[in-house]
Amino acid sequence: MKKQMKTAGIGFYILILAIIFFAVYVSGALDNNSTSSYNINTFKSDLDSGRIESVEILPNQETPTGEVSVVLSGGTKISFYVSDVKEIENILNEDIEFANRYKVHDIQKTSWIITTLLPYGLGIIVIFFLFSFLSAQSAGANGSNAKMMNFGKSRAQRIDPNDQHAKTFRDVAGLKEEKEELEEIVDFLANPGKYTGVGARIPKGIILVGPPGTGKTLLAKAVAGEAGVPFFSLSGSDFVEMFVGVGASRVRDLFAEAKRSAPCIVFIDEIDAVARKRGSGLGGGHDEREQTLNQMLVEMDGFGINEGIIVMAATNRVDILDPAILRPGRFDRRVTVGRPDVKGREEILDVHAKGKPLGDDVDLKAIAQTTVGFTGADLENLLNEAAIVCARNGRKFIEQEDISKSFIKVGIGKEKKSKIISEKDKKITAYHEAGHAILFHLLPDVGPVHMVSIIPTGSGAAGYTMPLPERDEMFMTKGKMLQDIIVSLGGRIAESIIFDDITTGASQDIKQATNTAKAMVTKYGFSENVGMINYADEDEVFIGRDFGHTSRGYSEDVAKKIDHEVKSIMDECYVKAKNILEEHMEILHKCAKLLLEKERIDRFEFESLFVPHVIEDKAEKEAGKEALESHQEEGVENSGDSDNK
Ligand code: ADP
Ligand code: MG
Ligand code: ZN
Repeated sequence: MKKQMKTAGIGFYILILAIIFFAVYVSGALDNNSTSSYNINTFKSDLDSGRIESVEILPNQETPTGEVSVVLSGGTKISFYVSDVKEIENILNEDIEFANRYKVHDIQKTSWIITTLLPYGLGIIVIFFLFSFLSAQSAGANGSNAKMMNFGKSRAQRIDPNDQHAKTFRDVAGLKEEKEELEEIVDFLANPGKYTGVGARIPKGIILVGPPGTGKTLLAKAVAGEAGVPFFSLSGSDFVEMFVGVGASRVRDLFAEAKRSAPCIVFIDEIDAVARKRGSGLGGGHDEREQTLNQMLVEMDGFGINEGIIVMAATNRVDILDPAILRPGRFDRRVTVGRPDVKGREEILDVHAKGKPLGDDVDLKAIAQTTVGFTGADLENLLNEAAIVCARNGRKFIEQEDISKSFIKVGIGKEKKSKIISEKDKKITAYHEAGHAILFHLLPDVGPVHMVSIIPTGSGAAGYTMPLPERDEMFMTKGKMLQDIIVSLGGRIAESIIFDDITTGASQDIKQATNTAKAMVTKYGFSENVGMINYADEDEVFIGRDFGHTSRGYSEDVAKKIDHEVKSIMDECYVKAKNILEEHMEILHKCAKLLLEKERIDRFEFESLFVPHVIEDKAEKEAGKEALESHQEEGVENSGDSDNK
């Protein structure tokens, strides 16, 4: 609103200026009677023939040029420009009659305006009118020819609540927790008064994080659909155009439109395209992107807290985002959208099987079980391909055979993206994660387990075990570090106990365990043999320096000692992990089985594996602790208390 007034104001001033220039120009022209045919030569001949009554010279500023006004004997006024007023003065001085009888005016300022500024002013005025004319036309036009002038216009797609593309939560299968989290947003958009009435502050921005095809866009649409508000969407890559300033202007436009339609949802897909960490681009910053991002932050900071616009964004790379956009008041809510588990996949298949007649032999549950790692988009694609195969064969019902055929097709495409998991790999992963989880649970200073999953993650891990640290600890203790190593090694050990072969899947675990052990020796002085000396080289890695030669600040001897100590820590931890797991084989099997069945288990499900052993459990925990105690002899206090698990 303010901005519009400002542009109108500028236009007004330019118009006034234009009128002034025009008036000055016209009056000057009328006054001067200047004719192109009159020049210094005609003046000279008039002077010689004595036809000149009087002469006035008006010199220009800074230049020798000027204007000469002449009154001829008949009373006719004529003026002409000269490149050098001195020349005229000389001519006049040579004339007996006119010497010292002509008048030289003070340096003239208006003439400078007329000669220099006027041409520019006119040019600017012409451009201004042309521009406003064209932009008015493009704003008014709806046809395709308007697009050309539309660089700065947002190309947002708009979906209204009663549009056929509108979605509701019923269209989103699985994703139960995600929907629950977003329920609140829906309620706010639908009944804002309820919240503003009690002074609640509703988040402005929600960022959906998850691998492609997991239903982030779908969820955002469904939030708008559920709340019955318009949905504006634009992809991050739409902002980044060839022309500098276009992105920022699109952002302005998008938000201006959103404000007119509030309450509403603004959805920015692939936000990482614009919101990458600033100044991180190679070969100089990407000004355009930064401008766009800055504009987006300005807009988000600009609208009031309860104006009814909620900005949602999606990305699969939250790690590369500029931290500025995750600050409070911006995208401060994060909803993680993961790959679906078996149950989720079955529900998604159910949703997309609607309107597709299935034969009796099709078992969606069985399909769900064989499609670990598939996203919602993959499953939708799978059923769609099956329908195509079926139609091509002229059948009216989709058969299991069609689905198997398309499974290969979709699966191969998928293999490039993540990979399909074979039953064997799935089993190995289940034991691997169960190994981590059991150790987390039994060791006193780590865990408890929040979630265990054998669904592949976007970053390429086959599964994960997520602990839930219960206390904020100021110090790492030696005991806790050792337990971390034991837990890290647990995955590989579980694999090796169950299968006669081991996999490469534990490389990350091994790396992490090694780093911890090294830090214990070289940084924290936890090893008596090496002593309390810092051998850790914490300098930044400089390319060209660290590749050329090692900048190690200690002798071969010390290096040997360190290596030896690190190895002995790792070996000890290995033995401990193996002992604990071997003592809990039954739980290991049960846990792996449950994981294979459900793919993702939460803390409650996991801990109930230990329940039948409730009495032994205490003893087991003690055993786990005892096994550790031997490590604690060096006197680092172990503050863990096993009762709170
Ligand atoms: P993303 O934005 O995360 O990349 P989309 O929301 O664009 O994923 O999902 C692509 C398609 O996959 C959707 O249009 C829908 O057909 C299907 N899909 C994904 N997740 C689900 C789900 N949970 N329930 C139903 N369909 C889904
Ligand atoms: Mg999407
Ligand atoms: Zn692991």
